[in-house]
Amino acid sequence: MHIGLQRQVALVTGASSGIGAGVAEALAEAGAAVVLNYRSQREPAEALARRIVERGGQAIAVGADVGEEAAVERLFEAALNAFGRLDILVANAGLQRDAPFGEMTLAQWTEVLNANLTGQFLCARAAVRQFRRQGVCADVSRAAGKIIHMSSVHEFIPWAGHVNYAASKGGVKLLMQSLAQEVAAERIRVNGIAPGAIATAINSEVVQDPLQHRKLLSLIPYGRVGEVEDVARAAVWLASDASDYVVGATLVIDGGMGLYPGFRDGG
Ligand code: NAD
Repeated sequence: MHIGLQRQVALVTGASSGIGAGVAEALAEAGAAVVLNYRSQREPAEALARRIVERGGQAIAVGADVGEEAAVERLFEAALNAFGRLDILVANAGLQRDAPFGEMTLAQWTEVLNANLTGQFLCARAAVRQFRRQGVCADVSRAAGKIIHMSSVHEFIPWAGHVNYAASKGGVKLLMQSLAQEVAAERIRVNGIAPGAIATAINSEVVQDPLQHRKLLSLIPYGRVGEVEDVARAAVWLASDASDYVVGATLVIDGGMGLYPGFRDGG
């Protein structure tokens, strides 16, 4: 099966590192023109855009905090000015500010909810408005627009010490499903990806520490920590016409982490 995203424009938030960078690169390899959003890490985002262009693709890097309404408007305007349309949004930007519940500050709670949940709302709303302006394509096997919400296995696995993060991802799950239900008749496809442990900056301390790494592996039946490419390949499929009948689904990419691994010995 050939998956091509030629003549499509994708916007990926939080694309200066980790999963977002990997997804943006994979979408560009599949032929899409990509808008790489970053918040503060301008250099790596611009370097990735340059690499994509050097390989014959199309890419720009645009700074914006996804939790700020006006900044999100400017981000989408920049995307349209550069490429004239939008076909795919990957709402990926996210962060953790961990603390035991009794010590969690309102600032930690608000920062995480703002980036991880409000940011996904603002970007999805801007994308839906743009898809509506573009209208429905005559080809019924093609969506009028695609949105992928980057969630986490913590949309269904509770996570002590990370209540703000788990609450944000639980929110993303029902944001995604409710939006998918609301806009499906307009042939706008909304889906989610729930990664398990993927080696990126967000968890580098855990992955690099041998003891914590072993503990993490005990939670992953498939026996390895995920790579950015594991998620990127799935995102390309979910953004493509190959998944045209997939609506309101969460693709769990976690090496089996969500399968209650504590029960795997049948005890
Ligand atoms: P990462 O830290 O490498 O990437 C997160 C990116 O989001 C960064 O580039 C950061 O600058 C950006 N960002 C954060 N707040 C932002 C804001 N307000 N505006 C714009 N950009 C902002 O980590 P990652 O692992 O690549 O995380 C990407 C997404 O995947 C996040 O939503 C995260 O919750 C999710 N996720 C990651 C894992 C994992 O194990 N790595 C697992 C499940 C879900």
